[in-house]
Amino acid sequence: MSDARQPAVFLDRDGTLNKEVNYLHKVENFEWVPGAPEAVKRLNELGVPVLVVTNQSGVARGYFEEEDVEQLHAFMEEELGKIGATIDAFYYCPYHPNREVEEYRALSHCRKPNPGMFEEAIREWSVDPARSFVVGDKHSDLLPGNELGMTTATRCTTTSWTVFPRPLTSSGEKSRASTLRAVESAGDARDDAVPGTRLQ
Ligand SMILES: [Mg+2]
Repeated sequence: MSDARQPAVFLDRDGTLNKEVNYLHKVENFEWVPGAPEAVKRLNELGVPVLVVTNQSGVARGYFEEEDVEQLHAFMEEELGKIGATIDAFYYCPYHPNREVEEYRALSHCRKPNPGMFEEAIREWSVDPARSFVVGDKHSDLLPGNELGMTTATRCTTTSWTVFPRPLTSSGEKSRASTLRAVESAGDARDDAVPGTRLQ
C-alpha cells in the first residue's frame, strides 16, 4: 500500500533562519543568518515542504501585533523570492500563559515545546513525521519534533549556513537520506551539535 504522506522540513525562525533579535518584529531589524536563504532554496530543490514553526510571544507581551508577524513573514518571502526560494508555510504561536495581553494569555498547545503547530502542519501538508526533520537552535524547538517521531537537528551553526550540492531523489528512504544530508550539510556544525540525532 502506498503512503501518500510526504517528508517535510520544519525550521525554527529566530536564531535559525534569521539572527536572534529579542522580539523581532521590524523589517529594519531583520538579518538573515548568512546562508539561510540558500539553505531554504536547497531544501526547495529536494522537493519537500519547508515549514517554519515559531513562537511569537511578543504578541502576548504586547510588544507587537499579529499583523507585524505576518508582515515580517511576507518580507522574508519577498527576500527569498529574489533567489527563487520559498517557505511553503509559516506557523506561529502568539500565546503565552502569563503575559499582559488578555486575548493572548493562554497555555496554548501550539507554543513550543508543545506540538500543536507541528500537528497542524502535519495535517495540512500530509506529512509523514518518520521521514521528516526539524531544525532549531533550542531544545524546545526539537522536543515536539522528537515527540512526533521526526529526526531532529540541533542548530546547524552559530553564525552561518553553508549549503553543498547533493544528489537529489524524490521518494522513499533515499529521499530521507538525501534530506538528512542536506540538513546536515547545511551548516558547519558546532562542536556541541550533533545533527540528525534523536533526543532521549
Ligand atoms: Mg530560535
